[in-house]
Amino acid sequence: MINTNLTTDRPTFVTHLECSMTGERYEADRLHGLSRVGRPLLLRYDLDGVGAALGRDALAARPTDLWRWRELLPVRQTRNIVSLGEIETPLVPIPRSGGANVLVKDEGRLPTGSFKARGLVMAVAMAKELGVTRIAMPTNGNAGAALAAYASRVGIETIVFCPEDTPEVNVREIAMQGARVWRVNGLIDDCGAIVGKGAAEGRWFDFSTLKEPYRIEGKKTMGLELAAQFGWELPDAIFYPTGGGTGLIGMWKAFDELERLGWIGPARPRMYAVQASGCAPIVRAFEAGEEHAERWEDAHTVAAGIRVPRAVGDFLILRAVRESGGKALGVGDPAILKAVNDCARSDGLLLCPEGGATLAAYREALRTGEVDEDERVVLFNCATGLKYPMPPAPATLDRHAAIDFDAL
Ligand SMILES: *Cc1c(COP(=O)(O)O)cnc(C)c1O
Repeated sequence: MINTNLTTDRPTFVTHLECSMTGERYEADRLHGLSRVGRPLLLRYDLDGVGAALGRDALAARPTDLWRWRELLPVRQTRNIVSLGEIETPLVPIPRSGGANVLVKDEGRLPTGSFKARGLVMAVAMAKELGVTRIAMPTNGNAGAALAAYASRVGIETIVFCPEDTPEVNVREIAMQGARVWRVNGLIDDCGAIVGKGAAEGRWFDFSTLKEPYRIEGKKTMGLELAAQFGWELPDAIFYPTGGGTGLIGMWKAFDELERLGWIGPARPRMYAVQASGCAPIVRAFEAGEEHAERWEDAHTVAAGIRVPRAVGDFLILRAVRESGGKALGVGDPAILKAVNDCARSDGLLLCPEGGATLAAYREALRTGEVDEDERVVLFNCATGLKYPMPPAPATLDRHAAIDFDAL
């Protein structure tokens, strides 16, 4: 039993979908990919209806998991909900490596060990609701793992394509959780092209980032959770490791919906989109004042989850960052690895490299005066550090020999 909220059907308040570029309207309860102009579709809700059905106090009385936000989520039939136990993730202080006002939202504790679970639990539930039987996806690892887990659980067939240098643990967890996984000699957008071609031939449904409308609704729960965890105020700044940008776009949407509900005021955190300097298309576009980001050639970084040379929601990321008064920031691999190392050694929290990137960016922002140390800051650690390679620890001890206890 995961959540007593799920024992009865609740209404959902989805009214329609909207093209994020043109505002063109699309009907709810139909299978959708991108809009006619090739851009992401966004879900719209009857927020007056949500407000009448659910108050902040009623919400507070519910178990603190992802499904407590049911009225702001798209699944209509309770029987279509698939769950592996999507908890509210904790905010962990890192006073030594970060600072007195720095909290890490530790998403590594979600099912499949990453925040991709938030997006995929929603997208798979909706795929089930809409009758999809076969799904394909390009992935840098964690999204494929979450897809495999949830889709296998509901009996949907999945085919996953990843760059050939995807972390080994990701490729194997995808296979182990029942998907067919292929290593492709290219980057994630090359994998995406294969998925797109198969989808155009009607072989499968395309689950690429933002190419179906429901992953963003699942990722939106990060923003809803933050608001509740901060007592219906928001932090001053959020540092988000940005690949496809689903989470950043989703949080921005969540804040907007919460304000319309009257649950938060107009104040917003400054949103910092963090990228690796070896793959920083959003940073380049931000600095050039562009609305869209060009493809980043020869992308490379230790932070595989943010090695995304081109994002279909680029303009939505840039828009949210600019409206919030934030920035797009690039950090080098050495700073990323140092941040991971410092946080583990002095605060006991093992970050993934992408989480390390947010700490590295925060430190740099502090140095340049972009943020103040009095400000309340949230850094996103998007996956458990246990999935990633760690430095060797080769020391051994012979229990049969004399032990020099002073040297231990
Ligand atoms: C997918 C992923 C990201 C990037 O998330 P987006 O919302 O797609 O930008 C960052 N870190 C990790 C570990 C990921 O798996």
